[in-house]
Amino acid sequence: MDAIVIDTLEPLVAELRAGGYAVVGPVVRERVIRFEEITSADRLARGWTDVQEPGRYRLAEGDGEMVFSFAASPDSAKAYTQPPRQTLFRMRGEQIEEAEEDAPRVALLGLRACDLAAIAVQDRVFLGGRHPDPAYLRRRQALLLIAVNCAVPGGTCFCVSMHTGPRATTGFDLALTELAAPHRFVVETGSARGEPIAAALPHRPASAEDLAASAEVSRDAAEHMGRHVETEGIQERLSAHDSPRWAQVGARCLTCANCTMVCPTCFCSTVEDATSFTDGTAERIERWDSCFTLDFSEVNGTPVRGSNPGRYRQWLTHKFSTWIDQFGMSGCVGCGRCITWCPVGIDVTEELANLP
Ligand code: SF4
Ligand code: SF4
Repeated sequence: MDAIVIDTLEPLVAELRAGGYAVVGPVVRERVIRFEEITSADRLARGWTDVQEPGRYRLAEGDGEMVFSFAASPDSAKAYTQPPRQTLFRMRGEQIEEAEEDAPRVALLGLRACDLAAIAVQDRVFLGGRHPDPAYLRRRQALLLIAVNCAVPGGTCFCVSMHTGPRATTGFDLALTELAAPHRFVVETGSARGEPIAAALPHRPASAEDLAASAEVSRDAAEHMGRHVETEGIQERLSAHDSPRWAQVGARCLTCANCTMVCPTCFCSTVEDATSFTDGTAERIERWDSCFTLDFSEVNGTPVRGSNPGRYRQWLTHKFSTWIDQFGMSGCVGCGRCITWCPVGIDVTEELANLP
C-alpha cells in the first residue's frame, strides 16, 4: 500500500483496540515520558518534549500540537519482548508445570528507528542460535510495531553513527512521520499485518509534498544528532585492555546497573527460586540481571570481575566489540539511554573516543 496521510491518531488507537491489541504508547508519568497502555490518543504526551544530557533528563514544554517531539524514553520494547520478571516453571510437590504464559497482543506505538534496530538485535540473540527461545518467539509474534520517525533527536542520541536511524526503514508494521502546518501524519506500511490497519483509517493518499516533508524531517534529525561514535577500528581500540582509561572510568562508575536496565539490547538475566510456606508450591523465576552486579560473574563463590573497572570494561567491550564476534552485529543501537540515565553521567561516546 502506498503511503497515506491521516489527520489524527484517535482512529488508529480505536482500530488497534478493536483488533484486540492493547495499545502501549508514550505518556507523561512523574515528569518522564514513559510507555504505558492507553485507551485514547488523548493520553499521549502531546505538547511535551525532553532535554537529555549525560546524567540528566528534564521534561519541557514543546509545541502544543505535536505528539512525538521527544527522544528515547527510558522504556523500550525490551519489557515486552523479555519481561523484567517471568516464571519459568512451577512445582507442586513432585509435579512440575511449565509456565506457558499467554503472550497478549500488544501494539507498541511510538517506537523509534533505534528501538526497531534493538528488537532486531534481540531477535538475533533469542532466535538466531541453535536453541531459539519459544517464550520470546510467542511474545515477539504478538507484538505489532508502530514506529515514529524521529524529528527531535536527544542530546545523547547517536543512531546515525550506528547506522540505525533516525528514519525507520525496516522492521515495522506501520511507520508514522508527524508533520506540522497543517498537523498530520504520513503513514507507511511495512508488513502484511499493517496494511489492513492503515486501509481502515480515514485517510487520503500522501502527496509528493507530504513525502518530501516526511523525508526532510529525517534529514533534519540526522543533522542534529547529539553525539557521534567513530566505529571505524572500534574492535581494535577496545582490545586495549591495559588502557589507563578503564581505571579512570571505573573510579566514577557506581556499578548501579542503570545503564544495562535501560539498554534496549542488554539481555543478561538470572534465575531465582521462590518457595511458598503456605501451599507447598515453588516457582523458578527469571529476572533481568546485569554484568555490573558483583555476583553475576561469580564462579565457585568468587566474582571473576571483582573490580569496577573490570565490570565497566566487560560491558563496553561486549556492547561494541565482542557482541560483533558473537552475533555478527553491534550490541549498541545508539539510543543514548545509558548516557542519560547514568547517575554520574558516564558517556559511552566519550569513553570510546578516549581509548587509544
Ligand atoms: S556506567 Fe553509570 S549507569 Fe552504568 S553502572 Fe556505572 S554508574 Fe551505573
Ligand atoms: S549501549 Fe547505551 S546507547 Fe547503546 S543501545 Fe545500549 S543504552 Fe542505547
